[in-house]
Amino acid sequence: MDMELIQQIRGKARSLLEEGTVEGVIGYERAGDGVTSRPLFAYDSSAAERLIFDDTCTHNLVKYLLGKRGKKMAVMVKPCDSRAINLLLNERQIDRDKVFIIGVGCPGVVETEWNHKSETLQARCRSCLLTKPLVYDVLLGRELARKAEEETYSDILEAEAESVVSRREFWREQFSRCIRCYACRQVCPGCYCPVCFAEQLEPLWVGIRIAPEENTLWQTIRTFHLAGRCIGCNECERVCPVDIPLSLLNRKLEKDVKELFAFQAGLDPEEPPPFATFRKEEMPELGE
Ligand code: SF4
Ligand code: SF4
Ligand code: SF4
Repeated sequence: MDMELIQQIRGKARSLLEEGTVEGVIGYERAGDGVTSRPLFAYDSSAAERLIFDDTCTHNLVKYLLGKRGKKMAVMVKPCDSRAINLLLNERQIDRDKVFIIGVGCPGVVETEWNHKSETLQARCRSCLLTKPLVYDVLLGRELARKAEEETYSDILEAEAESVVSRREFWREQFSRCIRCYACRQVCPGCYCPVCFAEQLEPLWVGIRIAPEENTLWQTIRTFHLAGRCIGCNECERVCPVDIPLSLLNRKLEKDVKELFAFQAGLDPEEPPPFATFRKEEMPELGE
């Protein structure tokens, strides 16, 4: 652990809380297994002493800001997490002046499970080109040069080469295991509708039955709702209890949106996602 960085984080959190700049600080603490980490909400300086940062700090904490609207909160963000801040600023879901962003330099996070951490960097970190958060109020730790290779989408290209029948079969099998726990939705910074389509009764988009047809519709609509908005944090796949490879769906759409619109979500707080913009000339039949 980088104790110097941790002391900087704790010191900053303490001063923000003691000076009343924020009501709380959202960061990481050591989990109960003594190995991995979990989110911490620190509301006083003694709780701030529990803050840590290391290569197990995988959670994207930005989602928690949505539950704290109206309160001024500080949040720790890694470079990738900062894309979620930009997404939510762009979509007017958070106020910039209500958030104090503690940016941290990130050497990458590793695969973990309860009571165990591997030495293997997560796949998304192996192609991460962000050396520092895109938006922050204070930057702690070092800005890191990366040796990462740009995302090549090799697994997506492989999947695209398969026949429609075999792709359909693959996803049918995957979706048949979905238990509709909605953990993927709950963790996603881009999923914040007050009533999710999956729970709407009028109109009824998708039945409550846990069966391949309903599951397929649920997954398809959710994926498309994130098209051009997914910031690639991979939290949905991480929390899925039945290991559905959701990143294949998200990254397929990320790749398509990049190719069609030269757009990647969360890189710029001002540039709206392609599906949130509309120009009259795109629908010529509308006339003047
Ligand atoms: S994707 Fe980049 S910023 Fe995010 S955890 Fe991995 S290395 Fe760090
Ligand atoms: S990777 Fe998953 S959790 Fe993260 S923004 Fe995309 S859909 Fe949401
Ligand atoms: S987290 Fe996994 S099992 Fe739960 S709803 Fe999402 S895809 Fe289905």
